[in-house]
This record gives sequence, structure tokens and C-alpha cells, in this order.
Amino acid sequence: MSLVGWRTLYRTVGRGVAHCERCGGDRAIWRRAGRRWMHLLGVPLVPAGAAAEHLACTVCQTCYRVELLAVPTVAQMRAALAAGTKAAVLAVLRAGCAAARPPSPATRRRAVDLIRRSGVAGYGEDSLARDLAAAGDPVARPGSEPGGLVIERLALQLEEHAREWFLASVVQVGLDGGRLGEPERAAVGAIARCLGVSQARASDVIWMAEAAQAG
Ligand SMILES: [Zn+2]
Repeated sequence: MSLVGWRTLYRTVGRGVAHCERCGGDRAIWRRAGRRWMHLLGVPLVPAGAAAEHLACTVCQTCYRVELLAVPTVAQMRAALAAGTKAAVLAVLRAGCAAARPPSPATRRRAVDLIRRSGVAGYGEDSLARDLAAAGDPVARPGSEPGGLVIERLALQLEEHAREWFLASVVQVGLDGGRLGEPERAAVGAIARCLGVSQARASDVIWMAEAAQAG
């Protein structure tokens, strides 16, 4: 040990959860702040300014910049996919209901299947019936309604092709006899706006879904 030198001492200023790349999953993390000290024989004597705050994984000790906190955790991404899928599927089905065309049993089955696969555990026909009976058109006004907001939040986590894939999976639920009705088409247009997918591209997605059914 040198007689006189500099060292940085850290203290934990917060705790949370973040995605640790090294562990490959969500982990508890410490947020740590540091201060540089001049030391004499290992004894801190004179403080010399703050060191940059950082995060440290409590499992593997890997350090990260605090900007990592802005990256969604796996749990947050799963929750966003489940909430966004449910909001979008309900918007399409409610559009049909509003036009006095309740979803067919096959459409309801596809809706329940997609919502369940998106991560809503235990979602069934009863859940769908309850949700459809509840008032509200969640994406009629993008950005101003809870349904639109959850789709916009999901869109932040999806790259361009994934957004179109998501839209296509919602369109497939709404197809009735291989075609998407006008009210459902308008709902898909609103969902596309929340996703940041152009209306022209949304029309392509609908056309491809209809063509796939016809083929
Ligand atoms: Zn780790």
C-alpha cells in the first residue's frame, strides 16, 4: 500500500431491479454513489469530489451506468406486451359489437388464445365476455385513453417489423369469413397510429392477412 494516494469509496444510495446483461435476466441492483478521498496509509483524510453514480448487479457485481434504469426490464416488457395485446384485441372486437355484429365463437376463441399467449394467465371466454361488456373504446383517441397509451408504451419496445407483426396478429383475430369489416378496419387504423405504423402500411398488413386466409 502506498503511503499517500487516492481512492474512491462507494455507498449504496438506492435499490431497484434492472436487466443485467451478464446474468441474462432481471436482477436486484444497487445504485451507488462514490466520493474520491486522499488517503494516508489507507485512512481517508481529505474528500476530493464526487465520483459518477453507477449501478451494480447484486448477483454478479457487474457495474453499469445509471442510464440502464431507462431500459425496461424483462418483467416490464412482458407486462407491456400483455396489456397492449389485450387493449388492441378488445378495440377490434368492440368495434364489431358497436356495429351490432358481436364476435363469432371462432373470433372469440382466437381473441382469447392471442391474449393468453401474450401473457395474461388464466384469460378465458368468461374474461373476454366481461371485458367486452365493460364500457369504453380504448383506442378511439390515441394518446388520450388508457388503451391507446398501453399500445403506445408497447410500441416503444418493438422495432418496426415487430410492430407490423403485432398488428397482423390483431388483424387475424378480427377476420370474419376471411375479411375485416369496416368498423374493425377503422379500429385497426387507430391501433396502427398508436404503434407508429403508417395507414398505408396498415392497409398492406390487412390485405396480406386477408390474402393468407383466402389462400
Ligand atoms: Zn448480474
